Amino acid sequence: MHTLIARRQDEIVQAIRRLVEVESPSGDVQGSRGVNELLEGMARTITSVSSIERIDSPNCGEHLLVHAFEENANGNKPTLILGHTDTVHARGALRTRFEQERLYGPGVFDMKASCVIAFEALRTLAALTIKPQRPVTLLFTCDEEIGSATGRSLVEDQARQAGQVLVLEPPAAGGLAKTSRKGVATWTIEARGISSHAGLEPERGASAILELARQTERLHSLNDPASATSFNVGLINGGTRSNVVAAQARIEIDTRFSTYDEARRVKDLMANLAPFDTRVGLTVKGGINRGPLERTAGVAELFHRAQAIAQRLGFELGECSVGGASDGNFAAAMDVPVLDGLGVNGDGAHASDEHILLSDIAPRTALLAGLIATL
Ligand SMILES: [Zn+2]
Repeated sequence: MHTLIARRQDEIVQAIRRLVEVESPSGDVQGSRGVNELLEGMARTITSVSSIERIDSPNCGEHLLVHAFEENANGNKPTLILGHTDTVHARGALRTRFEQERLYGPGVFDMKASCVIAFEALRTLAALTIKPQRPVTLLFTCDEEIGSATGRSLVEDQARQAGQVLVLEPPAAGGLAKTSRKGVATWTIEARGISSHAGLEPERGASAILELARQTERLHSLNDPASATSFNVGLINGGTRSNVVAAQARIEIDTRFSTYDEARRVKDLMANLAPFDTRVGLTVKGGINRGPLERTAGVAELFHRAQAIAQRLGFELGECSVGGASDGNFAAAMDVPVLDGLGVNGDGAHASDEHILLSDIAPRTALLAGLIATL
């Protein structure tokens, strides 16, 4: 399998380069269509592909949904391969170039190279006349980098029907798969105090700023490295002028957690925040944006399978947990095993030195093909 893919290395690299050069920052409709044009072209050359659907996301772009090996259904749930075609880089911000066995370019690592290897994995299976036990669904969304406003429900629908989900997000440093991702909840707290003259009668005032300063200290003191739950007050504003005791103030908070139990604990805590100064009223708004991707028994089993396949292919696959969330979090909430970070290795996601390692294309394609063939 490995040699078969390696023989196509040059074509694969050129396909990746072409895809990267059609720039597609989130919300760029033309870029999104251009990328899907190329991907659709690739899909059309693969015999196992039975349907290609481009789903319009108004003013944003289009999602791509591809079905393959559908005749193998036998009642088996499909393997869902998840990716995204949008990038964080504005048009013209980065140039594509080769240097020291690396390909640099906007979104090459996160994650256009991996969109290409998904099709290459299907092509490899067809060339070897391997028919997987399950149908394969590919879903590439166009709004992952901006919170998946319209991609989310597609991800959830497809994940609900799937037997397992393979996410082509970049691996962690060292090529590690991601077997858990933290969930995120964001909150705002508005404080309403009592204004007064700071010089004449400060005691009549109840400072909203002081109240939120104390709440900030309280929340940050709850940071717990052991449970990996975190609180960060990242934004604060309030008051009118320095000689007035502030009647209003506001903070925004990012909270992260690794388990649904911790998510519930954070939610209860935020819902029951009491003011330090009872003359100040607090309004708490917010909630969970992405639930955690927990390392369940199903996730661990999926990882061990991938690890065994990698070993047969001659490389080590490790695992790790990360703080950032992806569409894998939405998929995991559908109670299906999810293995994330299966993309081509490289570095510099979202940065100006974003690149992939050309030597990692063949092994990752083979791993993906192996997973599809044996799951
Ligand atoms: Zn990504």
